[in-house]
Amino acid sequence: MAKQQFQAESKRLLDMMINSIYTHREIFLRELISNASDAIDKRHFKSLTDASLVPEEGFEIHLSADEDARTLTISDNGIGMTKEELEHNLGTIAQSGSLAFKQENQTDDTDIIGQFGVGFYASFMVASHVKVVSKACGSEQAYIWESDGADGYTIEPGEKDSYGTDIILTIKPDPEGEDEDTYSEFLQTYRLAGLVRKYSDYIRYPIKMQMPHSQEKPKPEDAPEDYKPEYETVYTEDTLNSMIPLWKKAKKDITQDEYDEFYRSKFMDYMKPLRTIHFHNEGLTASYDALLYIPSQPPFDYYSKDFSKGLSLYTSGVMIMEKCADLLPDYFGFVRGLVDSSDLSLNISREMLQHDRQLKAIAISLEKKIRSELLKMQKDEREEYIKFWNAFGYSIKAGAYANYGADKEKLRDLMMFYSAKNEKLITLKEYREAMPEDQEEIYYAAGSSTDALSKLPQAEMVRKHDYDILYLTADIDEFIISQLESQDDKKFRSITAGDLNLSSEEEKKEAEEKSTANRAMFDAMKEALDGKVKDVRVSSRLVSDPVCLTSEGNLSIEMERVLNNVPN
Ligand code: ADP
Ligand code: MG
Repeated sequence: MAKQQFQAESKRLLDMMINSIYTHREIFLRELISNASDAIDKRHFKSLTDASLVPEEGFEIHLSADEDARTLTISDNGIGMTKEELEHNLGTIAQSGSLAFKQENQTDDTDIIGQFGVGFYASFMVASHVKVVSKACGSEQAYIWESDGADGYTIEPGEKDSYGTDIILTIKPDPEGEDEDTYSEFLQTYRLAGLVRKYSDYIRYPIKMQMPHSQEKPKPEDAPEDYKPEYETVYTEDTLNSMIPLWKKAKKDITQDEYDEFYRSKFMDYMKPLRTIHFHNEGLTASYDALLYIPSQPPFDYYSKDFSKGLSLYTSGVMIMEKCADLLPDYFGFVRGLVDSSDLSLNISREMLQHDRQLKAIAISLEKKIRSELLKMQKDEREEYIKFWNAFGYSIKAGAYANYGADKEKLRDLMMFYSAKNEKLITLKEYREAMPEDQEEIYYAAGSSTDALSKLPQAEMVRKHDYDILYLTADIDEFIISQLESQDDKKFRSITAGDLNLSSEEEKKEAEEKSTANRAMFDAMKEALDGKVKDVRVSSRLVSDPVCLTSEGNLSIEMERVLNNVPN
């Protein structure tokens, strides 16, 4: 049969496909496996009304690689393609038989992934020749479609026993230069198995391959004393994918151990997660399943610019993006996990999502969920929450401070500060609720350690009134407090700034009189301090200490120090 030409547009498209749509050539396997799975879905769907279409061996996808012949074969016992379908679906780029199938059958029951009609051509990124042998369900005759790429294809009758499709790729030769990527890796079973686990682990039909295993040979009867065991390579047919995604199972059927194990293997953390959040969200714009984890510890690079946040994104069990940053706000960047939604509008490469409504809607709902889970933990499991706060509190505080405090109200309730009275971390609400009737302001002191702060002379007067003080020990704390301004109508007030108005009229008068009486001495002291202080006077805020330093206005001494970059 004469060679058919791809349409002119198709030729250009194909060239573009091969050279630019995908950034990783390894995804060709994901695309071919997705097609195989779609084809099985279609046969499965038809078999619901025609039992004769159920294959004896069960639905499955097979991979096999032949290093000598340099071929990789992907076989499925799906619906297969007729001559016309081969022509139509593989001869026309951007023609999706799968999309047509979904439209014709008006079904949401299948998990069909295909829609753009370009995935198949990803084969040409790694193959110099592609041969498709297919026999459509119910058909007597098989057909063979073959192509070397842009200059066309042929279709001829061929032989095939059972229904389904074999895609046989002749893998390109390795380039000469040492630095070039090789193609031979796509003939190695372990590399292929790794790709299946990475991209296609949750395809719901088994993906099988003959895998080599090293096995100890049986010990001979007459083995000598110093017998050393010998090994041989045996092949077994292994299923490479785990098929049912953990997050699609019912929560009650999953143990915490399973969650932990999944976390450790997927995110390479040797520690158990601090918290697992698994839920399904039925939304107006997008429905999704999410499995999220809060790690016990920040990754070593968390607070550096090398860290990149993000959740894995799946659609119908196929991973389309390893780290989708848009799903998490920076302040929750420590959250790990994945989101699976079949409602996303993907662009043709499946690598980049169009920045669309659905993605935004999912991100907003995830943020809310994470926040409410954290608040629940803060309320019910304080000890765990403190662990969380110690690990990631800085991230929350930095988030509250960033962008001129745009997100501060969302994060306010999550924050914890050290309470002098309780000698532990408390929330701002808790401080506010425990305030005595006559307390007008929320007191805080900023310094390098709680120990240093407890020795602050100004603290004594406040404590004498039985008022609590928040000790702020991180540089960022006081900035946040000043940004938050108040808690339930009570303003924050630094005990080292300005006049606290805690002394009685009498005490004030007495102090003033003493100041006037000793003016000469104070002037001498001020002169001796040589411009380092603005004024020296008698204070009514001291109880047992002889002196204290006070700043004027709202900036505390500590904040002035941070702003001036003076070390402690
Ligand atoms: P998409 O999967 O987005 O539709 P592809 O380029 O991957 O686009 O595939 C084009 C079409 O070819 C599919 O829609 C399907 O109709 C057909 N096809 C591809 N692979 C197979 C297969 N293994 N079995 C049956 N049909 C297939
Ligand atoms: Mg496809």
